[in-house]
Amino acid sequence: MKIFNTMTRQKEEFKPIEEGKAKIYVCGPTVYNLIHIGNARPMIIFDTFRRFLEHRGYEVNYVSNFTDVDDKIIKKAQEEGVDSGEISERYIAECKKDMEGMNVRPASTHPRATEEIDGMIDMISRLIDKGYAYEAEDGTVYFRTKKFKEYGKLSHKNLDDLEAGHGRELKVTGSGGKEDYLDFVLWKPKKEGEPFWPSPWCDGRPGWHIECSVMAKKYLGDTIDIHAGGEDLIFPHHENEIAQSEAANGVPFARYWMHNGFLNINNEKMSKSLGNFFTVRDISEKYDLQILRFFMLTAHYRSPLNFSAEQMEAAEAGYKRIATALETLEFRIGKTGTTEATGEEKAKIKEAEDYVSRFDEVMEDDLNTADAISVIFELVKFINTNTSEESSKEYLAALKDELVMLTDVLGLSFVSEETLLDEEVEKLIEERNEARKRKDFARSDEIRDELKAAGILLEDTRAGVKWKRV
Ligand code: AMP
Ligand code: ZN
Repeated sequence: MKIFNTMTRQKEEFKPIEEGKAKIYVCGPTVYNLIHIGNARPMIIFDTFRRFLEHRGYEVNYVSNFTDVDDKIIKKAQEEGVDSGEISERYIAECKKDMEGMNVRPASTHPRATEEIDGMIDMISRLIDKGYAYEAEDGTVYFRTKKFKEYGKLSHKNLDDLEAGHGRELKVTGSGGKEDYLDFVLWKPKKEGEPFWPSPWCDGRPGWHIECSVMAKKYLGDTIDIHAGGEDLIFPHHENEIAQSEAANGVPFARYWMHNGFLNINNEKMSKSLGNFFTVRDISEKYDLQILRFFMLTAHYRSPLNFSAEQMEAAEAGYKRIATALETLEFRIGKTGTTEATGEEKAKIKEAEDYVSRFDEVMEDDLNTADAISVIFELVKFINTNTSEESSKEYLAALKDELVMLTDVLGLSFVSEETLLDEEVEKLIEERNEARKRKDFARSDEIRDELKAAGILLEDTRAGVKWKRV
C-alpha cells in the first residue's frame, strides 16, 4: 500500500510498526453545531481508508476524537444560556446520526477532550520538567517553540521564515510573560462562566493542540502509524502536536501524515458569510447520504473537491447505476430456474475477478477512490452485458457478491433503512397479484401506490412483476 506522506511529500510504501496492524488517529470535529459537508470529507475518506486496510487483512485501531471544550462551544452555550456540556453532548449525538447516515463506522475509540484532562496535565508537567514549556504570570502555560529544533518539519516552514513573517510583533514578548511570539498555549486560565479544571498552574482548561497529543498517546501509544485530518490542520495544529508529543515522549510521533484536500462550494471557499454553507443534515433533506458519500469518493482525496447541484446529480446517477445492477441481479437470482454455473459462466466468473485485482491496485496507490469507482462501473457494465434471466443462480450470485464486496470496501450501502425489506416488498407484490386475480383493482392500485411511496417501482413484464428501488 502506498500513501502520500505530507511529511516527506512523497508516496511511500506503508510499513506498519507492527506487522498486520495499523494505528490511526484522525482529528475529529469541534462539537458546537451540526457538522458541515467539509467536516464530512475527512470522515468519509479515512473511514474508507480504514475499510480498505481491513479488506487487505489489517487489524485497524482507529481513534477519532471529539473536541468538546472550545471557545465556540462556550459561546454557543452562553447564547443559549445552558451548560457547555449540554451543547457538546447534543452535537456529539447529532454528529453520530450524520455519521450513521453516511455509513461512517464508529471509531474503535471516540475520546472526548474533557474526559482526558489528567493526561493533559501529565504531559504539560513533563514538558515543563524538560524545559519545553513554562508557566507565565497569569498561570498560562506556553510551549517553548524554538527549543524544539525540528519545528516546521511537517508544514515545511522554517523558524526563520515564521519569525520574518511577524517582524516587529516578535519584539513584543507578551505582557504576561510570554517569551516568544511563536510560543503557543498548552493551558489557559478560566474566564468567568467558562468550564474549568484545577491544575498545578491555575484553574483553567487545555489548549486545543495538547488534546490530540494526549489522546493519541493514551489510545495508540507514543508512536502511531498514521495521523490524519484536513489539510488546514497541517499548520499549526499538527505541527504543534508533533512538537508536544516528540518533546514529551522522546520518540517520533507518527510515521505517516495524511491530509485531505478542501471541499469548496461552486468553486468558492465554503463559508457562512458567503451564504454557501451546507450541513450534512441540509443535504440529507434532499438526498440519501449514501449519495454524498459516493460524491466524496469520486475525487482523489488530496484534490480540492467542488460541491455543486450538478455534481450531486451526477453522483446520484452514478450511485443509481450500481443500485440498479444490484437489483437486477437480485431479481434474476429470485427468478432463474438453473442453479449451477455452466462452463462458460465459470470462465466469466474468473474473468470478472480481474476487476477485484484492479480495484485493489488503484486503491493501493494512495487510495485512488476515483479510479476504484471507474473499475466498479466497468464491473457493472460487465454484469449488464453478461447476465440474463437465463443465467444460473451460482453465476449471478458470484457476480453479486463481487459487486457487493467492492462497494462495501467503499462503505457504500444500497439498502435504505426507511424503505421496505425485500421480503416485505415480495409479500406486497404477491398480495397485489392475488388482488388482480380476483379483479380487486382498487386493492391492487392501493398496493402499487404504497410501494411507490416507499420508493419501489413495479414493472409488469412477461416473466412476471419486476420491481426496483428508485
Ligand atoms: P473542525 O471541526 O473545524 O476542527 O474540523 C474537523 C475536520 O474537518 C478537520 O479534519 C478539518 O480539517 C476538516 N474540514 C473542515 N472544513 C473542511 C472543508 N471545507 N473541506 C475539507 N475538510 C474540512
Ligand atoms: Zn487534532
